Amino acid sequence: MSSESTAESSTVNTYGIRGFPARCVCGTKTTIYTSETNKNLGRPFFRCHTRRKTHLFKWVEDAVYEEVQDALPKIVLLEAKLNKEKSDIEDLKGVVTELMEEVVRTKTEVKRCKVMMTILFVIMCVIIIVLVVSLM
Ligand SMILES: [Zn+2]
Repeated sequence: MSSESTAESSTVNTYGIRGFPARCVCGTKTTIYTSETNKNLGRPFFRCHTRRKTHLFKWVEDAVYEEVQDALPKIVLLEAKLNKEKSDIEDLKGVVTELMEEVVRTKTEVKRCKVMMTILFVIMCVIIIVLVVSLM
């Protein structure tokens, strides 16, 4: 923020630029100056570098107010989006829990199948041994 002494005009020339004016309508960058007049002592304002009376002049507090005003609807949308995301996360947690239960059930079933296969293998071996012995 520049603190150089300026005799700012009491006329606000925003040219409809909302929020922080990066540039004046003439294309020149704006700078923040601090008022040193008795009426507005210490009050910051944006002004065109050219400092011409008809160029941009805007109080910083007005720009901040507009920035906040413009941001509020976006914040409401972001809050709604955040709540939707939270809801989706809760749904996904439910899906993960169901999948984990499915994995446990499947593991138990696979163990049972392995035991059955082992028993069948042993039975087949016994049958083959009995057949081979009976044929000898
Ligand atoms: Zn200008």
